[in-house]
Amino acid sequence: MADAEPHRTPAAHLDPVRLARLRERVLSGFPEESDVEDLVRPLTDMLAGETFVVSDVRRVGQPVVHVAPGFGDLTGYPPADAVGRDLGFLLRNDTDQDAVRDVREAIRDGRATTVTLRNYRADGSLFWCEQRHHPLRDVRGRTGHVVTVLRDVTDQVNARSAEEAARQLVGDLGGEGGWFAYGALVDASGRVQITWVGDSCRAVLGVEAATLIAEGLVERVHPDDRQGVLARWSALRVDGGSRRDRYRIVGADGQTQRVEDFAAVSWSAAEAGVVALHGVVRAVGAQHAEAAAAVDAGDVAAAFKGVDAGTGLPTREVAEDRLHQAARQARRHGRVVAAVAIVLDHFDFVHATMDPRRGERIVREAARRLQRALRRSDTLSRIDRGTFLAVLSDLDAPDAALPVVEKLLAWVARPFDDGSLRVELSASAGVAIAPAHARPADVFAAAEEAVATAQRAGGGRFAFADPELDAAARARTGRERALHAAFADDQLLLHYQPRVRLDGDSVTGVEGLVRWNHPTEGLLPPAAFLPDLERARLGDALFERVLDRATRQAAQWYREGTPRRVAVNVGPEVLEREDLARIVHRSLDRASLHPGLLELEIHERTGRRTWERGAGRLRELRSMGVQVALDDFGAADTNLAQLRDLPLDTLKIDRAFVARIDAGSRRSADLELLRAMITLGRGLGLTVVAEGVETASQRDQLRELECDEAQGFLYAPARPADEAFAPATALPN
Ligand code: C2E
Ligand code: CA
Ligand code: CA
Repeated sequence: MADAEPHRTPAAHLDPVRLARLRERVLSGFPEESDVEDLVRPLTDMLAGETFVVSDVRRVGQPVVHVAPGFGDLTGYPPADAVGRDLGFLLRNDTDQDAVRDVREAIRDGRATTVTLRNYRADGSLFWCEQRHHPLRDVRGRTGHVVTVLRDVTDQVNARSAEEAARQLVGDLGGEGGWFAYGALVDASGRVQITWVGDSCRAVLGVEAATLIAEGLVERVHPDDRQGVLARWSALRVDGGSRRDRYRIVGADGQTQRVEDFAAVSWSAAEAGVVALHGVVRAVGAQHAEAAAAVDAGDVAAAFKGVDAGTGLPTREVAEDRLHQAARQARRHGRVVAAVAIVLDHFDFVHATMDPRRGERIVREAARRLQRALRRSDTLSRIDRGTFLAVLSDLDAPDAALPVVEKLLAWVARPFDDGSLRVELSASAGVAIAPAHARPADVFAAAEEAVATAQRAGGGRFAFADPELDAAARARTGRERALHAAFADDQLLLHYQPRVRLDGDSVTGVEGLVRWNHPTEGLLPPAAFLPDLERARLGDALFERVLDRATRQAAQWYREGTPRRVAVNVGPEVLEREDLARIVHRSLDRASLHPGLLELEIHERTGRRTWERGAGRLRELRSMGVQVALDDFGAADTNLAQLRDLPLDTLKIDRAFVARIDAGSRRSADLELLRAMITLGRGLGLTVVAEGVETASQRDQLRELECDEAQGFLYAPARPADEAFAPATALPN
């Protein structure tokens, strides 16, 4: 569920007294210029037992400056690894960005705020982390530090998801099976308060949900059974887990009904001694009682029709229903639906060799991981022991299923580690697409057949039911695998193309242009692999690789006494990175390069929203001295006002405009267009660079138009660093 909304929890979990003291302290303010040492003692005092960190928001990158001892246990990072970094290092860059923005905003406004984010431990495992951010103001009212209290709320979040799933099921199946679902709170005195009830309780008890909430469920339990039921609920509060109970209940008509009640703890607030439960009540006729009693107590599927006991996932029937719905919708909107059968490889063997409870725990963890790889609108169901079925609804095209399938398999392939045992599993997946395979029933069968093929081929892989799709997907994964190898085996090279002043011929800088030294295909230009690379989400990795290479090279030229500024291309997904400034900073640091010797080229086609989101990061970088260029200017349609507002130093005019001028078109509209662009750029105080200069005539005209710099084959193509400035073709004058 990479793009699911993060949960937000408004409730404070700190002791109210301590919270009040903290607030008081914050409001009265710390001394101006207060050091972290001044803050740590009172905070440690006030937040005893809590895990917290302190960040200095006055410094670039808002680094963590103090880490409480519990941080290591929570995240697996030793405190020294956290100090100096933005707390955002616990995040992955593709999730929760909205919440992060909210936090930034709140801190800027000096407000306290709480968010629950997907964070990752040092070992890569995910946990849901509740972060309460408290800005600390100095006596002049300025925020100097932020205290962030961290808490692992994974269990609560999962329980809440289970509750949501239960509600949804109730909505879907309401009333049908003679059962209803409810949520309740049980407090330390054993008091049970029903908080919500599914509408289908009317069909079972003849009582409206609202009435049941108002009058209580316990009150309806037969007087002879009441004590026992209460005792078992209280036991659930203390022991956790789940419970199955049988009792008699009095319906609206005064008639007694036998019911079966399956309840599980969904979360608990230890400080308050309260637990929340969700449960299902099912009517059992006298004649059914016997059969029902034979059902294994853990097998909720019997009590909770439509939900798998072990994982809380919907069962096949529900999934089929979803698929029908999704396929109908997809057909209407010209989109497709994918059914993905997922089998945990060697599951029976693994299950047989370990304690069954542990086996179930692994299945639950696998289910959780699969769920996370899916979007919220997708449905995951458990079909059988180690078999799951996912319905991916609303896809643009059949091949849009591929990255999801790869993600599903990758998540399962990570080691399972519960502290005492480490298990490595793999999964196989079979994919079939509706409406390509007309009937939804056939699609499931096709997906299951495909997964069997994948397993026969050795497992740990996917197969598409459609042979053509399968071949295409395989080719694409093959290319992506090769790209991963390109990173691992250092097959990516950086060539450098000089940029030259037009009022002389001195080289001002170089642009770094990536090449792939492919083991069988030779040197490939970016156009041959960038699209695949970006689809494989390797754009970030490329940027970091190129940036490191470029800064190190620039530092070497500097040391050799021939300083050249080096320009690096920044793709849109990189500009979106919350940690862009930190990455650039780190690279400059590692290379010991002055920021003024680095330039970032941002493509003009970068979407407006990305620009807006990236502008702050670019400003931050510019304030460090890094230069920013607008690349391929003229290729998109940036308007004047936008151009004025962008944080820029340089304008690079797209080579298409340069290509249109030559000796024969001195007075043409093309020339006037170029003149206007150059005038505009210079008028805004930018350095204007013409790209793709191939002829002396183009150079001369650009000189006449007072363009500042030029880049192109006339001077030199992009070449390896040691040849970049060799006068291979004599510089013409
Ligand atoms: P770009 O940023 O516009 O880079 C300039 C391209 O124009 C380069 O092609 C360069 O070799 C080519 N070029 C330079 N002078 C001339 C000339 O006089 N005439 C002609 N016809 N072409 C000239 P290249 O190296 O194939 O790069 C293509 C594009 O790939 C780049 O366009 C850039 O958008 C992208 N790219 C290259 N390296 C990277 C990188 O490290 N990261 C990212 N994200 N994109 C990159
Ligand atoms: Ca460029
Ligand atoms: Ca360009």
